[in-house]
Formats: sequence, C-alpha cells, structure tokens
Amino acid sequence: MMIELETSLHQFNPDHFGTINDFLSTSDSNERDTLMLACADHGTAPDNVSFAGPNRFFILQHLAACVPRPKDNEIDNSFGAIMIGFENFDIRHAVVCGHLGCGIIPNWFKNTKIRDPIGLCDRFRSTTVKAVDEAYPELTDQDYIERLICEHTIFQLENLQSHPFIREKLDANELKLHLWVVNDQTAQVLTYNPHCGDLVPIGEMR
Ligand SMILES: [Zn+2]
Repeated sequence: MMIELETSLHQFNPDHFGTINDFLSTSDSNERDTLMLACADHGTAPDNVSFAGPNRFFILQHLAACVPRPKDNEIDNSFGAIMIGFENFDIRHAVVCGHLGCGIIPNWFKNTKIRDPIGLCDRFRSTTVKAVDEAYPELTDQDYIERLICEHTIFQLENLQSHPFIREKLDANELKLHLWVVNDQTAQVLTYNPHCGDLVPIGEMR
C-alpha cells in the first residue's frame, strides 16, 4: 500500500533525506544517533516500529508529534527538548513519526470546543486542515482523517527543517531527515519519498 499525496503542498530538498539503507548502515553503534519525534498517544513505544536496537533512539513524544516553527516558540517551547537531544547525543537522523490510529488529530478536527492552551489545535486548523481541504476536496470520512494525519506529520517535518540550527546540519550533510507513518493495526511503516512526494512502504525507498 502507498498513499499518493498532492506534491505542491511541501517543499523539501531530496538531498536532505535519508533512506532506510542510510539508517541501517549506521546502526552498528550503541550511541543514540536518532532523534524520534512521535505522537503522545502512539499506542506502543514508537521505537517498536524500528529496525534497530532501541538504544538508538532519543524519543520525544508530543501531542500529534507537533514540532513548533521558529515563530511559534513563544507559545510552545517544545523545541527546547529537541535542542537538548542534539546537545547530548551525536544525532545523525531525525525521524518524525505519525500514526494512522491517532486519536488526537480526529479530536482536533471534530471537537470545536477543545481546550487548546498552547495553540496546537489552532495551528493544526490553520495549516493542515486548510491545506487538506484545498488539495483533496473529494475525500470524506476515514480517507479524509488519514490524509489529515499524513499531511500534518509532513508539515511537522517542514517545521523542523525550518529552524536555522537544523538547516545548517542538513546543508552540512550531518543530519538526514526521515518521515514515517505507522499503520497501528498492521505495524506497516510508510515513509515519505521526497522524489515523488508520496508515502511509500519503507522497504521500497533504499
Ligand atoms: Zn496520535
């Protein structure tokens, strides 16, 4: 299974992405070399989806794996935890991980009276929902929710790479980006392919 996406929504440099081979070829060390940004309601430990020892991961879980943009830092300082990961470990891979069984995103979409003290739901509505409604007007029900989840996760990766500190590491080839979306029921992992702009089974992108 793959998920075709509207390519115009995202702007990435494909050179900034790693493949599963890049990821596995550096897995012999016991060092934590991978920053994983996952959702707080991911049902199992998100590193269970990986293909390497759990010692590799420095995992931060936040509501819907949200990553603030540089201009969001005043209301959501979760980028500080990301910086701590880079300061303490030799991070070579950054994985933003979404999941199709997410309960937070459907709630943010359906529940208009939600408590939103740090503005994450607001940001979700003004970015992801707006973009998905424009790009995929034909989708309904579960297809629509899954598309919200996928696009939201990709927007978080864009947010991550928009920080100058991250951008410098990408341009210096010291860091590779990965985007995974896990199917909670099958444990299949889809990954973002920056060349075609779709989500493809992770084993197909080498
Ligand atoms: Zn979730």
